[in-house]
Amino acid sequence: MTFTTRFAPSPTGPLHLGHAFSALLAHDMARDAGGTFLLRIDDLDQSRARPEWEQQIYDDLTWLGITWDAPPRRQSNHFADYAATLTQLRARGLTFECQCTRRDIEAAANAPQEGAPLFGPDGRLYPGTCRHLGLSADAATCTRLDMTKAAEVTASFTETGPTHSGLHTLTKEDLRATIGDVVLSRRNMAASYHLSVVLDDVACGVTHVIRGEDLFEATRIHVLLQTLLGIPTPEYHHHTLIRDEAGKRLAKRDDARAIAKYRAEGATPADVRSMVGL
Ligand code: GLU
Repeated sequence: MTFTTRFAPSPTGPLHLGHAFSALLAHDMARDAGGTFLLRIDDLDQSRARPEWEQQIYDDLTWLGITWDAPPRRQSNHFADYAATLTQLRARGLTFECQCTRRDIEAAANAPQEGAPLFGPDGRLYPGTCRHLGLSADAATCTRLDMTKAAEVTASFTETGPTHSGLHTLTKEDLRATIGDVVLSRRNMAASYHLSVVLDDVACGVTHVIRGEDLFEATRIHVLLQTLLGIPTPEYHHHTLIRDEAGKRLAKRDDARAIAKYRAEGATPADVRSMVGL
């Protein structure tokens, strides 16, 4: 069986111990399987991506002993591909244009149905305000997936990670009630993370997605998009997250745990491996 995986950091800040764990785990699994390890630079958000952070990613990973088997793929080189897929989904009537601000969504959500979840993987569930307005793309601020139509598929995925291991089947009730009309693109961003990640993974032949548990819920969106687009669903492995002493997961602003800081203090790659439990 082929095994192709990837590590996909955003160049918006320093890599920290959580990234080190994710990258080392994916790299170890690829090497153990005699497979391929790829590096992707998730610079979708051009307002936050910086060349110096991208360089730091290369330096930190190389220092950790990680090698990638093809030149890194940059999302910013593929905006036209994302737009083409969006055009296809629009033509199939699976999207709608939306002009709601965050405040509009909050206000509309103030009278939720009893028992309905208020938040999904992307934050507050969209209340459907613009779904039937037939807005033109010019008038809108984002394009959303119309979940009332998109959820009519049969799809499942296999998870091998420690927390949710097993076969997960998507149901339309669950997709509508807990995910809703997710954003596929914004006026100032070629694609949402969900759309881009699905297209990047298939373009690179990724067979195994290895990433943090924080993305487990979002995986249903990715599997739904793969199914709608007729592209293969990889196997998923969501690993546990590295947390600080207070139990909070590390974030980009956690400079105190930046790999660069440990390097500067004289730690070895083996020290970092043992700090993250590998
Ligand atoms: N750029 C995303 C992140 O940093 C990648 C997530 C993924 O592996 O799908 O979280």
